[in-house]
Amino acid sequence: MSGVRRREALFGLGALAASAAFMRGGAAAVQPAGDKAVMQTKPAEKPQQGAGFYRFKVGEVECYSIGDSQARMDPFPLWGENASEEAVAAALRASALPAKQNLMHFNVLLMKTGSETWLVDAGNGPARAEPGMLMKHLGTLGVKAEDVSGIVLSHLHGDHFAGLMDKDGKLVFTNAKYFLNATECEFWSRTPDLSKTNLNADWKKGMIEGAQKTLIALEASGKLNMVDDGAKLTSGISVKKTGGHTPGHQTVVVESGGKRFEMLADAVHHYVLSFQHPEWHLHFDYDAKEGARARREVLSRVASDESLVMCYHTPWPGVGRVIREGDGFAWMPMVWEW
Ligand SMILES: [Zn+2]
Repeated sequence: MSGVRRREALFGLGALAASAAFMRGGAAAVQPAGDKAVMQTKPAEKPQQGAGFYRFKVGEVECYSIGDSQARMDPFPLWGENASEEAVAAALRASALPAKQNLMHFNVLLMKTGSETWLVDAGNGPARAEPGMLMKHLGTLGVKAEDVSGIVLSHLHGDHFAGLMDKDGKLVFTNAKYFLNATECEFWSRTPDLSKTNLNADWKKGMIEGAQKTLIALEASGKLNMVDDGAKLTSGISVKKTGGHTPGHQTVVVESGGKRFEMLADAVHHYVLSFQHPEWHLHFDYDAKEGARARREVLSRVASDESLVMCYHTPWPGVGRVIREGDGFAWMPMVWEW
């Protein structure tokens, strides 16, 4: 592995001990109760659908998009903070989408290569009212938690890391090594500067507590590795730092058999608004201008090289391609294949 180094404890033993009471709070404390302006969730009230994973291949690497969860979100101001509510509603209407309560998915990537089993992110776990289904769907696939050998974290937001821990705060994937961008690691280890977002104070507090609690648990496991832009993790799999959404947000690139695939994670968000208008600010970006810059850069790159891509928040399975359209882009979902 190049560009990878073991993460030594930043917080130190004193801080670990001091955080013990915090740790006992369990994974349920990972996310704040919610920013009521943008997120409304409730437990599932209807029978579940049958599908939970979608299989596709990139050369020799077997990939699965695992459906973890969903949330209904009001699109404004979430996906267009610097646009008008009317402009956001008009863009949605043109795609036959409602102006309120758009469904957003959470898609976890599973990769099997040789004897290794990798995850990119870990879903919501028990942290939300509508708990993540990652473990259930891995079970259907015959993958046990202890089978997972590596987990790449795209960034340290709760919807991506909360599934690493059970409701008692214990790490679920006992044999996994963890790979987090070095900048991301440093950012959340200190007092993160979230002054450029319009998130409310409770949301910021919950974000910081959740990220730091996760870092402490990962450091204590002795299996946290910091990676730099371009680091190679295993044969055909590497990471690419994008920044934007968070300072050390990273994507995962698979190159095998002449094919290229990139898991974009949260570099793009809404499957219409973020593609048509990459310049529209995302409420959750730590620096909205930087987020817009990174979004356009990533979309331009994958549109030019015609990569197959996957997004964490587009409709499940969230696998497809990106094309240029007007001044922006369009999302072309992969056609379902049995
Ligand atoms: Zn996310």
